Amino acid sequence: MFAPFAFTKMSFDSVRAWLLEEEPHRLEALFIAADSCRRDCVGDAVHLRGLVEISSHCCRLCHYCGLRAANHEARRFRLTRDEILECVERIAQAGLGTVVLQAGEDPALSRDFIADLVRHIKKHTKLAVTLSLSERDDGDYVEWKKAGADRYLLRFETSDRTLYERLHPSRGEPFDRLAAVQRLRDLGYEVGSGVMFGLPGQTTDSLAQDLLRMSELDLDMIGCGPFIPHPQTPLGHEPANIELAGSLEFAYKVIALCRLLVPRANIPATTAVATLGGEAARAKALSCGANVIMPNFTPPQYREQYEIYPDKACPEEGAERFCADLDERFAALGRTVGQGLGSAKREMA
Ligand code: SAH
Repeated sequence: MFAPFAFTKMSFDSVRAWLLEEEPHRLEALFIAADSCRRDCVGDAVHLRGLVEISSHCCRLCHYCGLRAANHEARRFRLTRDEILECVERIAQAGLGTVVLQAGEDPALSRDFIADLVRHIKKHTKLAVTLSLSERDDGDYVEWKKAGADRYLLRFETSDRTLYERLHPSRGEPFDRLAAVQRLRDLGYEVGSGVMFGLPGQTTDSLAQDLLRMSELDLDMIGCGPFIPHPQTPLGHEPANIELAGSLEFAYKVIALCRLLVPRANIPATTAVATLGGEAARAKALSCGANVIMPNFTPPQYREQYEIYPDKACPEEGAERFCADLDERFAALGRTVGQGLGSAKREMA
């Protein structure tokens, strides 16, 4: 009854019904189905991606995000090339297979600066390089791929056009994130995308559409997390959509559905989930479909300044300590620490 193939072909109505499902036994069955799909399709390894937040400067005005340009209380930093390379070195030393370079939309991170950085990392380490640098000129995406970048993360945030345009004012020419996802894929990147859930104005119907869209896009990576209001943003004081964001249980449900709809995808237990429910929530996310964790290697003095939303989960002890005993913690969950690059499989076995 819960065979994965039955889910990959799920209709809008059944995705919607699952989003509204509250009966504990049925939800447990969904989580078990997602966990077994995860085991069959991507195995027991949990891949670690070392996250480096390289700039908190942002020229955009997204209504949900604490980094928005109009937040004059936000503290801004931009790592130097040497600081970034030190983080990369720590990630390689800690035995991880991937570095993720993420930032606000910061034009000062020039095409050449990033291309040179990527070339350097690819030449001197075995790391896969993931970029998460927002909406950029096509030429940037082309150049960074040529420099050796492996993956790109760009969430489409919501497939509801009206809501998207309200929350994500464009900067001149409208930029179609869904078209960009396709373009990045055509350029040869492994591509990740996803949405937030619980945004004010978001509906169950539109989230069901989002999930089906991810399945159509056949994404290599999916990042979905609960919306967490930031007080210094326009959405800071609007109530979140409780129906969609009210509980961690809802987050697990979304992760489970993502797994079942795109069985081969790499899916993180997101920081937003850990922010709401700590390490227990991260472990639970791993047991209902997730297979990736992104430890934060941003230098401690900058980490707090990258405040997309308040009180972002980030282990006090630092990323190295956090990674050091993951072997044991994963073993308790019947999982292992992923070795190598942990790339997405394009074709299902
Ligand atoms: N600026 C880049 C990447 C950094 S933001 C970009 O836009 O792609 C990374 C993700 O954080 C965003 O895609 C968004 O989905 C999420 N995010 C932003 N504000 C958030 C909030 N208040 N609560 C939860 N997630 C948020």
